[in-house]
Amino acid sequence: MEFDRRVFLKVAGLTLLGFVAKPGWEVLSKIDESGPSTAQGILSRKKWAMAVHLKKCWEIEGCRDCIDACHRVHNVPDLGNTKEEIKWLWTTPYEKIFPEHELEYTDEALRTQPVLQLCNHCDDPPCVKYCPTRATWKREDGIVMMDFHRCIGCRYCMAGCPYGSRSFNWKDPRPFIKKIHLDFPTRTKGVVEKCNFCEERLLKGLLPACVEACKERALVFGDLKQPESEIRKTLQNRTVFQRQPELGTKPKVYYIL
Ligand code: SF4
Repeated sequence: MEFDRRVFLKVAGLTLLGFVAKPGWEVLSKIDESGPSTAQGILSRKKWAMAVHLKKCWEIEGCRDCIDACHRVHNVPDLGNTKEEIKWLWTTPYEKIFPEHELEYTDEALRTQPVLQLCNHCDDPPCVKYCPTRATWKREDGIVMMDFHRCIGCRYCMAGCPYGSRSFNWKDPRPFIKKIHLDFPTRTKGVVEKCNFCEERLLKGLLPACVEACKERALVFGDLKQPESEIRKTLQNRTVFQRQPELGTKPKVYYIL
């Protein structure tokens, strides 16, 4: 599976030196100070993106491997109802995600197929513009981040996101987490959260948990700046679409049918 080997070795070296033994947000600030040859310096020269092969994704009916892996490593609670659902990775029927693709004779089976959704890590993210406390921001490598401690729960970012990619904790999520994963922080009541493209795993030279978990290899993740990367090759000769590109947000999640 594609991942830059040179970056992996450098990042792995930093791991051995103990830089990445701490939670991601601490490591990022520490490494930021020490120059461009650090893990953060290397990663900042990337431009991350994901592609979802829909037909491969639909191979195993009802498969939730990617969603379960994501939710497990990020302590995403299961509140048992869709109204309060915390969404990092989730599915929505095709006809709701891509209504513009729906033609008069589109088959019912296609209309109802589940389409994987996550934060699009938009190049021009409206959520960032709306946040009054800078609790959300876009990194040089394109990842749209959240600082849970800075979030005041105003939910302006949620109003700004046209894709419904952010969720609000209406109650303390901790009692609803099956098993707390100690490598990632839990959140509190009144905080917004969303997918982070597994930035904490990238820092360790690992692929996002969802990509790693997918047996069908329906998810491709990589660096758009590398012409030889799997993501670039995946995108170069296929019909690829994004969610609501007309909004000008420039999503970095691509769909292939
Ligand atoms: Fe922000 Fe929504 Fe774009 Fe994610 S999908 S970067 S939350 S506007």
